[in-house]
Amino acid sequence: MAQHQFQTEVSKLLHLIIHSLYSNREIFLREIVSNASDALDKLKYLTVADDAYKSISFDPRIDISFNKVNSDPSDPASPAASSPKTGSTLTIADNGIGMNEADLADSLGTIARSGTSSFLEKLAGDAKKDSNLIGQFGVGFYSAFMVADKIEVISRKAGEDKAWKWTSDGKEGYDIEPSQRDTQGSTVILHLTEEGAEYANRWSIEDIIKRYSNHVAFPIYLTYDEKEYDDKGKEKGSKTKTDRINSGTAIWRRSKSELKEEDYNEFYKTLGHDTEEPLFYVHTKAEGTLEYSTLFYIPQKAPFDMYNADYKPGVKLYVKRVFITDDDKELMPTWLRFVRGVIDSEDLPLNVSREILQQNKVLLNIKNGSVKKLLGEFKTLSDNNKEKWETFISQFNRPLKEGLYQDYANREAILELVRYKSTTTEGWTSLADYASRMKADQKNIYYITGGDEKTLKASPLLEAYRAKEIEVLIMDDEIDDIVIPSVGKYKDWDIKAVNRAGADEELGEKKDKAAEKEIKPVIEKIKKALGDRVKDVKLSRRLHDSPSCIVADENDPTMQMAQMLKAMGQAEMPEIKPILEVNGDHPIVVALKDTEDEGRIADVSGVLLDQALLVEGVKIKDPADFVKRLNRLLV
Ligand code: ADP
Ligand code: MG
Repeated sequence: MAQHQFQTEVSKLLHLIIHSLYSNREIFLREIVSNASDALDKLKYLTVADDAYKSISFDPRIDISFNKVNSDPSDPASPAASSPKTGSTLTIADNGIGMNEADLADSLGTIARSGTSSFLEKLAGDAKKDSNLIGQFGVGFYSAFMVADKIEVISRKAGEDKAWKWTSDGKEGYDIEPSQRDTQGSTVILHLTEEGAEYANRWSIEDIIKRYSNHVAFPIYLTYDEKEYDDKGKEKGSKTKTDRINSGTAIWRRSKSELKEEDYNEFYKTLGHDTEEPLFYVHTKAEGTLEYSTLFYIPQKAPFDMYNADYKPGVKLYVKRVFITDDDKELMPTWLRFVRGVIDSEDLPLNVSREILQQNKVLLNIKNGSVKKLLGEFKTLSDNNKEKWETFISQFNRPLKEGLYQDYANREAILELVRYKSTTTEGWTSLADYASRMKADQKNIYYITGGDEKTLKASPLLEAYRAKEIEVLIMDDEIDDIVIPSVGKYKDWDIKAVNRAGADEELGEKKDKAAEKEIKPVIEKIKKALGDRVKDVKLSRRLHDSPSCIVADENDPTMQMAQMLKAMGQAEMPEIKPILEVNGDHPIVVALKDTEDEGRIADVSGVLLDQALLVEGVKIKDPADFVKRLNRLLV
């Protein structure tokens, strides 16, 4: 029985990892090595920034060794007693920051990472999809239980004398007991299962390290036994050798000409815990008043936590190659939170604190420069690589739209990137493309919001625009309703909603004066019948085939928006009343001219209003009343 129980989430995650990542189980080594590298980063930082650690002699390295036992099942003495099954082990040691008793319990018995529970909820139980998600999440230490049925971690924290041993079989819990270790750091000993035993092998270790951890910025050494032979080719013993097996320079500091696409992609996998290749990367070296290097990656898929308030930032900060933080949301604007990568500055002091970072001018300049650079690269991609651009937009259109709202300084550049649907083209269109299709005398850019693409395309509000061959952008993303009114303009054109009063100037005259005069009494009748259900009733210039539509007053939220705000818990919203517009040529409306039957006028008016609401996807207040009126009219 283990002394300590795993936190429930650990047990869940363990189970999931073992079952969904099994076909990709070699990544356990990447995870253990990246933990060693993180531990070295942390200590390196302390030795330069904190006087208490300056006396530590620090020669950072990661050491891998293995012990392969060729077990013979027929020999009862064969499997070594140390491992329940195979006796083969794989050991990864670092001389980094180390862990004390409490750290071991916290780090390897619970999951501190924010967003874990929401992540667990997302998992569907479909191994293939889940393994993709888990890959993005970064599986971490526990992935080693895919190849080991027992793990020991012997660790000593820098600056402390005592060492501790954590042991677990990856089932219910773990034990911690006092142990021995000569220097600070951690040694992870994996007792390999029968299938895991294939990793107790020089070639597979080298191969996996080259593939996933080649660019870890500390040297990784592999120790192995090499057989020696005499002149006659007879084995005469073996010699222990240690080779360095990674290239290990900070890739972002190297020059672009030295690096191949594979180098970049390999580094991305270590950095982003992603099993897929990145969509593209941007590598910049700035020299001049400020000196810094940045290497940014755009993933193929939006990070699983992109819409969580407590998302994990994707950009790490280094100062002169020393890792400072990977948990600072200020390094990138929130609307670029999907970007992965590294910022390495020459001009920041090493002992920067969080608080100083936030107001630091150097960092602010780097950040602004990086955003500009990324925006420029996005634009180039949109011009030159249709396929990648489509992928990009399918994943990141929404955060870009957030940028329109939040980042005033870059609004113009972002406006060139966001994409919308449209009444005249299939797929995505840009505002620039829309503008290029505008007729010479068109005054505004038009859009419609409030519903899904299908509902919007069927809206009667679009009839007159269609008849006049004026293109309308279909904005079916909830966020558009909030963002676009705040943007207001693209170049010199106003961007106007078709479901607002005032967007119909270009649709020509309502009717000739005489006809307008003739229809006026009808409008009055409807207005009287509807009373305070509407703000106003007007003769429409937008309608062609439909008898009526609703629009919002210029400064009111639209009905759909009001509905959305209410659903989001904004109970205090004042009631928004629509303006009803009627089609003066439609037989239903025309027929009202000759009737004074108040009951009938009330029924027709009610139906004109409710049907206009229904087509726009707005819930009507009293469906029973609507049906009654409709049925009375049908006889
Ligand atoms: P993550 O690396 O994403 O935090 P892991 O599951 O890989 O998640 O590791 C959990 C934690 O265990 C780490 O955050 C770290 O605090 C601790 N840890 C793991 N390996 C080491 C190590 N070699 N040295 C020091 N701490 C370690
Ligand atoms: Mg880790």
